[in-house]
Amino acid sequence: MKIKYRSYNLRFKHPFTISRGTKTHQPTLIVELEHFGIKGYGEAPAISYYNIPVEKMIEDLETKKAFIEKFSFTDPERFWHYCHHLFPKNSFLVCALDIAGWDLFGKMKRKKLYELWGLDISKNSMTDFTIGIDAVDVMVDKMKETPWPIYKIKLGTEHDIEIITELRKHTSSVIRIDANAAWKADEALGKINAFKHLGVELIEQPLAKDDWEGMKFLFKRSPLPLFADESCVAETDVQKCHNHFHGINIKLTKCSGITPARRMITKARELDMKIMVGSMNESSVGTSAVAHLLPLLDHVDMDGPLLLAEDVGEGIKFNNGKIIYAEGNGTGVIVNDF
Ligand code: MG
Repeated sequence: MKIKYRSYNLRFKHPFTISRGTKTHQPTLIVELEHFGIKGYGEAPAISYYNIPVEKMIEDLETKKAFIEKFSFTDPERFWHYCHHLFPKNSFLVCALDIAGWDLFGKMKRKKLYELWGLDISKNSMTDFTIGIDAVDVMVDKMKETPWPIYKIKLGTEHDIEIITELRKHTSSVIRIDANAAWKADEALGKINAFKHLGVELIEQPLAKDDWEGMKFLFKRSPLPLFADESCVAETDVQKCHNHFHGINIKLTKCSGITPARRMITKARELDMKIMVGSMNESSVGTSAVAHLLPLLDHVDMDGPLLLAEDVGEGIKFNNGKIIYAEGNGTGVIVNDF
């Protein structure tokens, strides 16, 4: 197997603000695995909150590159285990390699990933479109700029209720909220009660990631379903979230790829929890991988390519929230000029 990689710094269409800060660009690593002339692509964006910059992914990859090139690739799950043991502290890099492994495998088998997994795509959820924190009139303008059936609104300000009250005046679309760990339990309960009356669908990560006591309090009282994002990073977190959240938001990059994400989905279903897969502002490479999990999900937030002004390839397309799969096998992504 041959491996190549390239880093990018993709510009956002608009500066993107959440409760932790603003960014104008998304650094990301794209890897290519080549096996008997067939090429598979994977991606891991760097998110400063998780402390794994692209430089660290490249440094680790360079150290163990020869071990990956020597690996005799037969199936992606075995490959994930191998990479997981090679890079136990770099789940982001493992994710990029795992997605590339699945893309390669699908192409070797001449099937799209959802076909390999025997999934029915006829009832796929639509993706939301994310509106970052801003002055409320700017948020209204962003919503009008992209008419969409489901919006995810980033909150965690002094004016959260006023923001949703104002947005609601301009749209009848579904609104879901992501507080990115910004609230305290009492504050959250007050806000969530108000949001219930404003027709909000669900709340993502209301409290700090390790505020389990607060979540226990909120879980018993919240009139809206609560989804864990920052509290649900790795596979072992799914069980911890049970009876604290109604659902989990899995992200391929934080959990280290498609392989563990599929196990997390199985585990969450066993616990009767709802499942969402989220975005870390991946380009079409990482986002096209998410699309194949759609039949297994209740909700999806996969709008990375819509928020970014630049892309590294071509994959899924969006039609007013509906995901249109690319023609090719594997994830279906085509990467240009690699
Ligand atoms: Mg989130």
